[in-house]
Amino acid sequence: MCGIVGSIGLKDPRNYVEKGLKILDYRGYDSAGIAYLSDGIKIYKDVGSVEHLFSFVPSHIETNVMIGHTRWATHGVPSINNTHPHLSFRKKICLVHNGVIENYKELKEFLVDKGYEFVGETDSEIASNLLEYFYLKDYDVISAIRKVMSLLKGSFAITFFTSDDENVLYALKKSSPLVIGLGEGYNLIASDASPMISLTNNFIELEDNEYTVISNDSVEVYDQEGEKVNKEKIHKDIETISHDLKGYPHYMLKEIEEIPSVVNNLINEYFKNDEYQFDPHLIKDLNESDHIIFIACGTSYHSGLVGGRFFEYYGKSASRFIASEWAFHPTYPGERPFIIMISQSGETADLIHCLKIIKEHNLKNLIITNTGGSTLDRNAMYSLLLHAGIEVSVASTKAYVAQVTLLSLLSSALQNDKKTIKDLKDSIEIVKDIRDNYKPIIMNVADELKDKTNIFYLGRSYDYFLSLEASLKLKEVSYIHSEAIPGGELKHGPIALIEPGTPVIVFITDTVTASSMRGNIEEVKARGATVYTIATQKLSRKEDTIIVKDYAYYLSSVAVSIVAFYLAYYVSISKGLNVDKPRNLAKSVTVE
Ligand code: GLU
Repeated sequence: MCGIVGSIGLKDPRNYVEKGLKILDYRGYDSAGIAYLSDGIKIYKDVGSVEHLFSFVPSHIETNVMIGHTRWATHGVPSINNTHPHLSFRKKICLVHNGVIENYKELKEFLVDKGYEFVGETDSEIASNLLEYFYLKDYDVISAIRKVMSLLKGSFAITFFTSDDENVLYALKKSSPLVIGLGEGYNLIASDASPMISLTNNFIELEDNEYTVISNDSVEVYDQEGEKVNKEKIHKDIETISHDLKGYPHYMLKEIEEIPSVVNNLINEYFKNDEYQFDPHLIKDLNESDHIIFIACGTSYHSGLVGGRFFEYYGKSASRFIASEWAFHPTYPGERPFIIMISQSGETADLIHCLKIIKEHNLKNLIITNTGGSTLDRNAMYSLLLHAGIEVSVASTKAYVAQVTLLSLLSSALQNDKKTIKDLKDSIEIVKDIRDNYKPIIMNVADELKDKTNIFYLGRSYDYFLSLEASLKLKEVSYIHSEAIPGGELKHGPIALIEPGTPVIVFITDTVTASSMRGNIEEVKARGATVYTIATQKLSRKEDTIIVKDYAYYLSSVAVSIVAFYLAYYVSISKGLNVDKPRNLAKSVTVE
């Protein structure tokens, strides 16, 4: 959510800021803007795409300092007045912000009392004016920054310049990410390193409660007390987003079809020479823990549900929590709990909040992420990368399958159970079979579903976890209301919603629960539901919609989630929606 880019001393800042904002667009946004200093502060904004914004930004810009922003609205509708950069009331401070300022109302009252007027509704506009208010006291930017840092509650990554000095760029940070890129005669800043990688491989990561003063030739970082911090320079070669669709019409489709190679790569990464390749300390810590706690959000939470079951299979007790719930009521059962966090982006604000609590309590922890160098990757005790390649489509597909695959490898490594490798390899063949032979059937089902307003997914055990992810995927990209229900819960309420023609999609791939699921199908059919069943061969009946070859049932989220992904994709396409960038959603959820 939200992207920040900024530069000082760069020869062609327009090009960097334009490309940078486009690279960061995977984070999701609803409006975009840039600002620079050249005969006064110039600001350009657009409620729409970065591409459209740059269609009216002057093609040649002479300036020493420039900032850009993609906004994902948290306070105030997407409008020109709410779009960043924000210029303060007396036109001294020009600022971009990522995060949420929780006490913005009281700060606004304070400023209104001082005669300040506001043009929009964002919390960010308060920050620009607060900085200006303290700056104008004695024209000391540093003391203004320190004062503002002590007043702001919530999360912020703020980058700004003043109308008085084109030779300095400032930034301050708490809970939202900011990375500084070090160049020769220029310096850069951005929400993550990806926009800067074509200009430098040397970075400094700003930590919470630090601020920085950046000029063409120097970068100085200070803590909130004004003490200089000696920052370590980090050298990184980062995989940048490939904007190559490789012949596919959409990233979501491309990424779904990469699933077989993603699973295969992961196996090769973590199982070599007939041995699991995990850090022995990690395996020891996991084996010695008496309770595993999974914490994640959205799709990653769903893979945590599956992962919890894997660890239980190997004799571990496990709990699963949604990060934004756990953060406010943290519980850690057992005497030696071990926390497994899962985040595709590694920047999930809710999880970063949890990690702070985890560290305060000295709990052992691991992050599973697709993003090396991300905040969670850098700060967790252990980190395992998914090696899935960057996922551009906002709706996660291959990263979900990679998460489940990695959790199955890790849990199996606890007892050196090598049968999992064969089971995973068999699952890859199922995925390929579905990819090569079942798309026409899935497209037909998508066509029947596209005008529906309520769709239900049913499953039990592993198939229920898969149903949750299937339902979320459909919601995300088709905007159709959908719910996943454990088969056994149907009679306890949700069956009241079944009426003639209600679509119910049922997974029957779990040997243990198959016959109970058949009973559930009869119950919804008796109320007129239209049932679509995905079953494995040995559990199938001839009337089933999709019958796939048998595989180790505990891997249904690896082997048959592709059916759910295709279905969501084709429903979205047949409704003419923007499948790769669904409304209101962001790839990297960097605000709580
Ligand atoms: N809270 C700010 C706003 O609504 C910043 C949102 C963002 O991080 O993009 O403008």
